[in-house]
Amino acid sequence: MTSERSAEIRIADEASIAAAAARLRAAELVAFPTETVYGLGADATSDRAVARIFEAKGRPRFNPLIVHLPDRAAAERYGRFDQRARALAERFWPGPLTLVVPRRDEGGLSLLCSAGLDSVALRAPAHPVAQALLRAAACPIAGPSANRSGKISPTRAAHVAESLGDGVALILDGGPCPVGLESSVVELSGETATLLRPGAVTAEALGEVIGPVAVASEADPAGPQRSPGRLASHYAPEHALRLGAETVRGDEALLAFGPAPPAGAAITLNLSETGDLVEAAANLFAHLRTLDAAAVAGIAAMPIPETGLGAAINDRLRRAAAR
Ligand code: AMP
Ligand code: MG
Repeated sequence: MTSERSAEIRIADEASIAAAAARLRAAELVAFPTETVYGLGADATSDRAVARIFEAKGRPRFNPLIVHLPDRAAAERYGRFDQRARALAERFWPGPLTLVVPRRDEGGLSLLCSAGLDSVALRAPAHPVAQALLRAAACPIAGPSANRSGKISPTRAAHVAESLGDGVALILDGGPCPVGLESSVVELSGETATLLRPGAVTAEALGEVIGPVAVASEADPAGPQRSPGRLASHYAPEHALRLGAETVRGDEALLAFGPAPPAGAAITLNLSETGDLVEAAANLFAHLRTLDAAAVAGIAAMPIPETGLGAAINDRLRRAAAR
């Protein structure tokens, strides 16, 4: 799916950064330069805005996203920092290091940022345009690399335009990215610090601050980066999940989709009454959690079309059903 129109590219200056911040606050997507690669940004507290990221990238599943903040003080509103996280943030922020820490639910981040995990990936980027945008928008910005799924990460504004077209409202052009390599991702939500993704900050450099760091193996199919679904902290429903439900029993909770859900469920939450897949994705994790907390025998989920974001929604539902 290539788009006919291409997004508006503006040289990053005070006016364009203010315009980009306004777009973010309106739940639209903005691409912005960081020192690593260009990010596809959305207001991380808006379910709808974050769902649009997955739509624009054409991601076949909900991977957790990095949430960008101006500094450690802002980051601590959304994640729980222990001694190690504080020490690493002191040493490497702002910079190309992402810290995966337990999420603070009261921070109000969209659950889509964590893709069902109880942790959240946080980073304070050093790039002056990213910093200016974060301060102007005054919200945490969820931002994976600004390319379509499976394509190479963009290090120039023109790459973003080629890859995403009109999926993005505005592209801030801050020139080529100085590092050009993704941020290192270190998992700190468990006892062992683990480097999930190598990047500009090496395992040795991390080790000098917090002691030995394990390195997740790319070849290990059960490795947390390859398969966040297998992390111990991964959110799996307690209740059995029945997929493709056309009818529902009185002792079941119904995860509905579309204008005409079957009647009779103990409790019904509709992902989207109008059958809008962006709205459905935005509601997915929150609805699943609510239904899972209900006193019912199981959850029945209505069929979701396998088109667009439907593929990612179905992937998540299938994994939740398999447990
Ligand atoms: P990207 O957004 O394309 O820069 O990729 C983000 C990277 O961070 C991916 O490798 C994710 O798997 C990883 N990541 C983000 N959030 C989490 C999390 N909560 N737990 C584990 N890995 C994460
Ligand atoms: Mg990427």
